[in-house]
Amino acid sequence: MEREKIKNAKRIVLKVGTTSLIYENGNLNFERIEKISQVLSDVFNSGKEVILVTSGAIGVGRKKMHFNTKPQSVQEKQACASVGQVVLMQIYSKMFGEYGYGIGQILLTKDVVENPRSKENVRNTFETLLQHRIIPIVNENDSVSIDEIKNISRFGDNDSLAAVVALIVEADLLIILSDIDGFYNKNPKIYKDAVLLDCVKEITEDIKKAAEGSGSDFGTGGMRTKIEAAQMVVNHGCDMILTSSENPKAILEILKGAPVGTLFVAKDK
Ligand code: ADP
Repeated sequence: MEREKIKNAKRIVLKVGTTSLIYENGNLNFERIEKISQVLSDVFNSGKEVILVTSGAIGVGRKKMHFNTKPQSVQEKQACASVGQVVLMQIYSKMFGEYGYGIGQILLTKDVVENPRSKENVRNTFETLLQHRIIPIVNENDSVSIDEIKNISRFGDNDSLAAVVALIVEADLLIILSDIDGFYNKNPKIYKDAVLLDCVKEITEDIKKAAEGSGSDFGTGGMRTKIEAAQMVVNHGCDMILTSSENPKAILEILKGAPVGTLFVAKDK
């Protein structure tokens, strides 16, 4: 029943994390990026609208700048982001171009969406891009926004950024692709008897407790930020699905109402 509703989703935000785009050795996973671009182009072709929120710039830049370990200083991270963002967009542009789509880059910082005027401007940019059948690709503006003072001016992770974008564009569905196939009743990396949940109708304290820590060296958010993102969007009438990035074609199944990943059910609009 809840899954059936997904068929009607017209405007979809897709978030893909660093671990889904980059191999453990730090190189780009071209096959993954190509499949995501193909599937999103197909979704667009079917008459729906898609917005892509992509991480990966710091990871890609880190490789290009020959860092062997995670860059530690703010300056290094910002520099990696500035190098990596260009590489990332170049690849998306090439991949989406294969299917006839152009892309538009939108780099956001938290202050932009906290200011009603600039938020409205960004909303207009999204609308205009979509009207012209350009695929908006969003990332946090990490070259300028990494802030040592308790992350005040940044989103900090792209799960919350994706949720904020979903609210700005009034999306019907937010899909988060991760290194895991959905949300479990406890961390499956620690507990072998963890059970995958098909549907979460209420984000209770137990659900929050089930989301522990980050999974990998490259990822930043972990499950906690995904649950926070879910909480944000479901309260505004937007469904959220968490699933694995391993098989991007599953997105097409999701949009047909198939039980893929975990669905966090929206409260009524
Ligand atoms: P990404 O980089 O794709 O955003 P992360 O690695 O940051 O993803 O977060 C996903 C990880 O969260 C999983 O691989 C898993 O180790 C961890 N995790 C913690 N609690 C849960 C849970 N209840 N269900 C699924 N994964 C969980």
